[in-house]
Amino acid sequence: MKEIKAEDFTESVARALQFISYYHPADFIEAMSEAYKNEKNEAAKNAIAQILVNSRMSAEGHRPICQDTGVVVAFVKVGMDARWQGGKTIQEMVDEGVRRAYAFEKNPLRASMVSDPAGTRKNTKDNTPAIVHVELVQGDEVEVTVAAKGGGSENKSRFTVLNPSDSVVDWILGELPKMGADWCPPGMLGIGIGGTPEKAMVMAKEVLMEPLDIHALKKRGPKNRAEELRLEIFEKVNKLGIGAQGLGGLTTVLDVKVKDYPTHAASLPVAVIPNCAATRHIDFKLTGKGAAEFEPPSLDLWPKLHADFSSGARRVNVDGITKGEIAKWKAGETVLLSGKILTGRDAAHKRIQDTLESGKSLPPGVDFKGRFIYYVGPVNPVPGEVVGPAGPTTARRMDKFTEFMLEKTGLLGMIGKSERGPNTIEAIKKHGAVYLMAVGGAAYLVAKAIRSSKVVAFEDLGMEAVYEFEVKDMPVTVAVDSSGRAIHQIGPALWREKIQKGEVEAAKA
Ligand code: SF4
Repeated sequence: MKEIKAEDFTESVARALQFISYYHPADFIEAMSEAYKNEKNEAAKNAIAQILVNSRMSAEGHRPICQDTGVVVAFVKVGMDARWQGGKTIQEMVDEGVRRAYAFEKNPLRASMVSDPAGTRKNTKDNTPAIVHVELVQGDEVEVTVAAKGGGSENKSRFTVLNPSDSVVDWILGELPKMGADWCPPGMLGIGIGGTPEKAMVMAKEVLMEPLDIHALKKRGPKNRAEELRLEIFEKVNKLGIGAQGLGGLTTVLDVKVKDYPTHAASLPVAVIPNCAATRHIDFKLTGKGAAEFEPPSLDLWPKLHADFSSGARRVNVDGITKGEIAKWKAGETVLLSGKILTGRDAAHKRIQDTLESGKSLPPGVDFKGRFIYYVGPVNPVPGEVVGPAGPTTARRMDKFTEFMLEKTGLLGMIGKSERGPNTIEAIKKHGAVYLMAVGGAAYLVAKAIRSSKVVAFEDLGMEAVYEFEVKDMPVTVAVDSSGRAIHQIGPALWREKIQKGEVEAAKA
């Protein structure tokens, strides 16, 4: 019988979370590198290159891959003959590990968890509590899988109960385009089929923790219906042409994982959970011999890519820029931004709107007239950094504020990730504004373009405060131009057509 000390468990969780904050899993890097090699759409290829360069920089710098360092999910398999020392519950031990990891001085991670989710939404400050799934198994050891899941991809989870005769593949192919690029593709899909609604959701999450092996599966051939579905969904999803960051292209998914379970004769529950460009998970085992150790990957794993994304790009300074100048920018064009921009995301937008609607003025320093807003909640810096990783957050969440911001504050442009809704595109056109996208999952790379940073308002909102950043050559793509042309509509439609006509070949298993 093995004795598992609470301290070993907690320290292992803390080490695992630090490790995955800056090291992508090796199989993920290999699959992403292959997607880079095969991609024919230059914009999508450039986005994948940014993800890979960012990944290597994070591995070298031991700083987070993405500014959203995630909600912690732990799957804990406890051997029925293992004995615990320390008198703590598994939830308490995991949470202590999360606290330790997220406050680690050399690499602090962003605390994203809020309590009272339908009310005050107060940040818990230490990223606890984690979501913990416990299973009792044979044996006397403890096996743990720890993941840090970003909000953008979690928000795109889907669930349905189909009729038993309905097609799972058709439902998934119908959902994918609606999920847009908010989940930062290319990534993986975890699919849970059967059981009950909650069982299907947990299976979809758990199966995402398995290695990427779609090519090995194709080679050996499927042995059951779940494996047949993996191959079919992988090829059909990639033929949709959504591509990296939704720009249109040949790889939307790097793998598709399916787990199934018997279900009621009347039901066919299906859950889908995506894993994004910041795929982060790791397994470890406790055998009573101390805390887990993790082996850093070799830097040879990463392809040798240049971090220069300036080729063919338009260089602009946004200080004092006019509507006339931004009217020349075209959807799909790469722009290198320099100058001063303000930041703001969900909580700041709500406060700005509430303040102005109540007839009060915004604090000094928060003047959006003729300026750009960057939707971001950065990681706190460590000594030597201006700001921690600071990639874009999902722009669509700010759609409900956009008409107000353009109309009432004189805002000129926005920077975020993935697409905007139809009403927002109309508002952009009406006001002659522009929406630029930065690559989701390239947060450390983007942060290198930020030369100075200061909080100018709403400091109490923590990472959601309004900052002023001075940027130099920040790489962005014109996603909605001032005439209302949207690259997330044009790109996928064009590449889907090319795939259908046989001019190019989507990623195959
Ligand atoms: S890669 Fe995208 S979806 Fe994933 S954590 Fe980062 S911002 Fe969120």
